[in-house]
Amino acid sequence: MKESIIVSLYEGGYQPLNALTGLAALRNNGYETDFWDAYVLGIDMDRFRQYDTIILPVPLFDSLNAAIALCRDLRENGCTSRIVMYGQYATLNAQYLADSYADHVISGEWEMPLVSLFDFLSKKGKAVINVISRDKTIPSKTVPLAMMRGRIARPRRDLAPALTKYPQPHLTRLLGEEKIVGGLELTRGCHHKCTYCSVYSAYDGKITLGDAESILEDVDTLVAQGMEHLTFIDAEFFNATRRSFEILHLIHRKHPSLTYDFTTRVDHILDNRDRLRELHDAGVRIITSALEFPKNEVLRQVRKEVTVDDLKKAARLVHDSGIVLNPTFIMYNPWIDLDDLDLMNEFLTETDLNEVVDPIQYMTRLHLYKGSPLLKNETIKSLRLTEHEFFYDWEHPDSRVDEHFRLAAAQEQEGTFKRCCLKC
Ligand code: SF4
Repeated sequence: MKESIIVSLYEGGYQPLNALTGLAALRNNGYETDFWDAYVLGIDMDRFRQYDTIILPVPLFDSLNAAIALCRDLRENGCTSRIVMYGQYATLNAQYLADSYADHVISGEWEMPLVSLFDFLSKKGKAVINVISRDKTIPSKTVPLAMMRGRIARPRRDLAPALTKYPQPHLTRLLGEEKIVGGLELTRGCHHKCTYCSVYSAYDGKITLGDAESILEDVDTLVAQGMEHLTFIDAEFFNATRRSFEILHLIHRKHPSLTYDFTTRVDHILDNRDRLRELHDAGVRIITSALEFPKNEVLRQVRKEVTVDDLKKAARLVHDSGIVLNPTFIMYNPWIDLDDLDLMNEFLTETDLNEVVDPIQYMTRLHLYKGSPLLKNETIKSLRLTEHEFFYDWEHPDSRVDEHFRLAAAQEQEGTFKRCCLKC
């Protein structure tokens, strides 16, 4: 048997950052872990079962579903390898996953815990860190996020498929040309507490910073691999505003032809209204922002701390700076009624966002994953919910709204950008 392999399933269609940082942590500590990106290379059951340990990063809800399907297939095919999971959705479901599918699940940041697990398994360590194991006799220590500072590893890009294997059709549409896209993050987590957000669930309003020097070296590597456009995958680009500007300018000075996109909240767009042109001149071409729904009650319920007027102001400011605003919505949610659906069309027309919005956004529906803070919301508690393994289906009190959603969902949509950001 070979020692271990990280199998990446899906990281938003980008070269997989969770997987490549986990890989770097293990390799930096002497573990010759292999890597396989199933998103590009497909599932290879015969390959995977050769390993003692199969490690599955689970950063997104879609990767959770894929990881569960793979676990079932592995077990049905008689594979007895040890299974380890980590990443945001592993964190949110850690105990259940350890009870049902994985031998070990890392809760929270993964680099230090992964190494602690491998040290323990190879008898070099006395306890695992932030690891929930099926075998409850394994000694485990809890280390808070604050103690993980400076632990984000520089991803092993050299072991990943080429960037050309990760096309981003929605960015192509918004940029007006096809570019080779890479992604990295300046921070993990988010200071905000939007009530539906899995980043909030996993990080509880905290962040951890990547090392600036390591980030700049990573950009150099990506440029050497052909990157022409960089996506900052951070849940919130302005988690550390001054630092984000500084790093962006450093990258821009060194690689002036690069263009960028990032995700931020409407209040940060408004706070930085005087610097949007500066962002454009540094190469920022697209800002993704979760606008949710143009109705104040919806914005209040999901704790966006802005009003519909603020959404309109932000849309105008971004447009005037020459940057494209890529809006995302929670089109179908329990705080709208049938008539409110017209508000969306009026809003898109008034803000000129009709032409840029990804068509798939017209069929987005509030996602109630297990662990969502929204499950404590009074409106949500009053809904009829149907439990599934990792989420709840909900019914709108007015069945005509759900019927409207079913009709929208049944239509063929050309779009691809379904999530609100690259972290859910
Ligand atoms: S939705 Fe965005 S801003 Fe709000 S908590 Fe999540 S990551 Fe942060």
